[in-house]
Amino acid sequence: MRKKHRVVVVALGGNALIKPGETGKLPEQLRNMDNAMKHVAMLVKRGWKLILTHGNGPQVGDILLQNEMSKNAVPPMPLYVCVAESQGEIGYMIQETLYNRLHKLGIDKPIVTVITQVLVDRNDSAFRKPTKPIGPHYLRKSAMPRGWHFMKSKMGFRRVVPSPEPVRIVEADAIRKIMDKAIVIACGGGGVPVVRGRGEKGLVGIDAVIDKDLTAGKLAEIVKADMLIILTDVDAVELNYGKPNQRKLKRVGLSEIKKYYEEGHFAEGSMGPKVEAAMRFLEKDPKNRNKRKVIITSFDLLEKAIEDKAGTIIVR
Ligand code: ADP
Ligand code: MG
Repeated sequence: MRKKHRVVVVALGGNALIKPGETGKLPEQLRNMDNAMKHVAMLVKRGWKLILTHGNGPQVGDILLQNEMSKNAVPPMPLYVCVAESQGEIGYMIQETLYNRLHKLGIDKPIVTVITQVLVDRNDSAFRKPTKPIGPHYLRKSAMPRGWHFMKSKMGFRRVVPSPEPVRIVEADAIRKIMDKAIVIACGGGGVPVVRGRGEKGLVGIDAVIDKDLTAGKLAEIVKADMLIILTDVDAVELNYGKPNQRKLKRVGLSEIKKYYEEGHFAEGSMGPKVEAAMRFLEKDPKNRNKRKVIITSFDLLEKAIEDKAGTIIVR
């Protein structure tokens, strides 16, 4: 029997919410978010059951800078608390702009943000080799807080943190229960990273950044989504990206894109994890995977991409 409502997970790219030349002032972010929600609302209108997730790079960077600059007046919070703060901040912006867009379409649906923890393995090799740059650039060594890892950047030094694999979404059950009644926003910024504490300690937060696309793939898996849509600042996935023989991928099968992935067409840390998330999602759940679809495109092309007329569409 066919399910009544098909389920879609939409991942919003953090970089598309603060555009080049913008500083991230609230009206700018709300305007960009409103533009995103204009397109996303159409999915709800077409009857899709919607679950949203989002990146947080620029926003959590700002929160870290605020913590760093006011640390002598207010106790600074660790990175994982800053991630939770950014889930609240961005979740609110989505709730408000999506509410307004749905209201204009005559749709009245509850929208809920779930502060989400994502379990990572404390033995993940990422903890031995931090690679993900975050937060402000430091100009002088003397200004760099002790105990952190740094790498040289264009403007001095930048903190780097581990980027471990998402293992389990702690609030998975809560998300599955709420999604029948409401549009859910979850796993923002890849989730608040937690590990199992030693002894009787239960879960404890840890300073790391989980890739938001890999977590989005996991989210799509646990809600048994029919479709995963990754919205970013490019129209499609390209082969030979940035080279004269660059070429857009339109509709592509799993084994074909896997081959391109192995040939190194998709940059680590940007397009790489999106394609990786797509491949994992299409490999899981043997009963349903043949009906699954992944779209990677820009916000403005969402409606066209749903009709197979734009973006990159990946199927099994
Ligand atoms: P997001 O915030 O949406 O995760 P990212 O910057 O991480 O955005 O990823 C999108 C970027 O990936 C694009 O702006 C583009 O510069 C880069 N990119 C790397 N490889 C490719 C490729 N093969 N095709 C298209 N874009 C690519
Ligand atoms: Mg990214």
